[in-house]
Amino acid sequence: MKITDQPHSFTGKVGIVGAGIAGLSAAIRAAVAGAEVHVFEQNTYTGGKLTAFDQEGYRFDAGPSLFTLPHLVDELFKLAGRDPKQYFDYHVHDEVCRYFWQDGTRITMYPETKRNVEAVSNVFGKTEGNKIQSYFDKAREKYDLTAPFFLEGSLHRMKTFLTKGVLNVIAAIPSLGLFSTLNDYNESIFTEPKLVQLFNRYATYNGSSPYLTPGIMQMITHLEHGLGTYLPKGGMHEISQSLTRLAEDLGVKFHLGARVESVLAKGKQVTGLQVGEEQHSFDAVFINSDVKHAYAHLIPSTVKRPKKTLKQEPSSSALIFYWGVGVSFEELDLHNIFFSNDYKREFDAIQNNREFWKDPTIYVNITSKLEPGDAPEGKENWFVMINVPADSGQNWSEIIPKARQEIISKLSEHLGRDISKIIENESVLDPLLIEKKTSSVAGALYGTSSNDRMAAFLRHPNKKTDCKGLYFCGGSAHPGGGVPLCLLSGKIATQWWLDDVR
Ligand code: FAD
Repeated sequence: MKITDQPHSFTGKVGIVGAGIAGLSAAIRAAVAGAEVHVFEQNTYTGGKLTAFDQEGYRFDAGPSLFTLPHLVDELFKLAGRDPKQYFDYHVHDEVCRYFWQDGTRITMYPETKRNVEAVSNVFGKTEGNKIQSYFDKAREKYDLTAPFFLEGSLHRMKTFLTKGVLNVIAAIPSLGLFSTLNDYNESIFTEPKLVQLFNRYATYNGSSPYLTPGIMQMITHLEHGLGTYLPKGGMHEISQSLTRLAEDLGVKFHLGARVESVLAKGKQVTGLQVGEEQHSFDAVFINSDVKHAYAHLIPSTVKRPKKTLKQEPSSSALIFYWGVGVSFEELDLHNIFFSNDYKREFDAIQNNREFWKDPTIYVNITSKLEPGDAPEGKENWFVMINVPADSGQNWSEIIPKARQEIISKLSEHLGRDISKIIENESVLDPLLIEKKTSSVAGALYGTSSNDRMAAFLRHPNKKTDCKGLYFCGGSAHPGGGVPLCLLSGKIATQWWLDDVR
């Protein structure tokens, strides 16, 4: 039964801790189901990591830059009986990413397999090009087979395992790549190390290492190459802002600048939230904040701690420079990657030694390529990001200038121009600031990492089954981080809640 089919009165009063993308997804779904919904957000804005800012004539998305599966946003408007296009629209982009290596090799990848076969054949030879079709076919198969269970359903409810098709997943386990790493898988297909590196990069989409994360993560390539890449009109920020507008239209009450101090419970039943001096009564509470933050600060000590889950390692974090650049570069597109020379050592440094790697892979995102209003004419807004470990006490004030120098010198070499001379303005985001702004422990971008094949099962369930009325959604809960998965997280959590109250 769809949420829209529910009678509109029995769902009571719902409190949501955090206005991140999963909190917004849950708020909209709960409001559509007829609940009185209150969202408490410690910041003065909604969106959590999905936010934006202006900097001397340039507009920047502060967090996510890559947008896939737009139907997951659209479906919230449709669920509420609204036309998505009245709230939210997006560009369909015809390129996935431009890749650059230090020896001068360059390749552009596309959302159409035929173009990719051609591109790979041209740059790396026909033998490698001929492998592309079956590589993406395999990614699609893995995605189609597993997404309905691993991503769209709860891994903690029996009903998921009773769903038609689950036997096919079980039968396919030996071929899903659960017992080898993504790097092993890619090396078994491609002989060209640069292609292995290119496809290894997809491990970073959930903050993991390709040398640790299982081969099944190959399916992530299907999102961009099979299902397409997009950019919201108005920038990534429009995802959270359009959903906020929809939530408000549905009567959701946002309490901004309102930090939740604790979840109130009577025995094993949630009763409300403590916000500053005020107590608010709720029939159900959804936690959208980081799970580790919630257990450390919000959830009463009488509620059992999920010890194994809380011990999971955080996903990687990022160091981002937001540069207003006074020149436009034709050779750059919306998404650009400048690879390091030694990917293995880069990930060893990040994942094993928890340190900054001196030759980092650099990602440059330029929304003004599609949204000219994001930068003054003839100029560009560069979001320049490198992967770094989650914070464990590193000296970031020493690392930041070193990283900046390294990035500038590498980009200058690639682009044949002294980048330092054309940066008009700058701001920086580091793991400490990410934690400060969003309460994501250690500044992890995607909750916990997927560096182990059991990680998906150890992520926090969308419901705390031993505490009535307590639900979880967000990057550190099932099914994990990233905008699409967070939207699904809000969906799975509210479906569980509706099954409970029904
Ligand atoms: P969050 O965004 O973490 O928000 C949680 C909210 O809860 C915050 O607003 C916080 O203030 C609030 N909160 C916490 N505790 C309390 C409290 N006690 N009281 C009140 N409020 C509280 N994903 C992609 O899909 N594509 C990308 O390209 C991508 N790139 C990224 C780049 C960066 C730099 C970052 C930081 C993230 C990126 N991600 C990307 C990941 C993506 O942003 C996140 O997975 C997703 O936005 C997390 O959403 P969430 O619902 O878990 O909540």
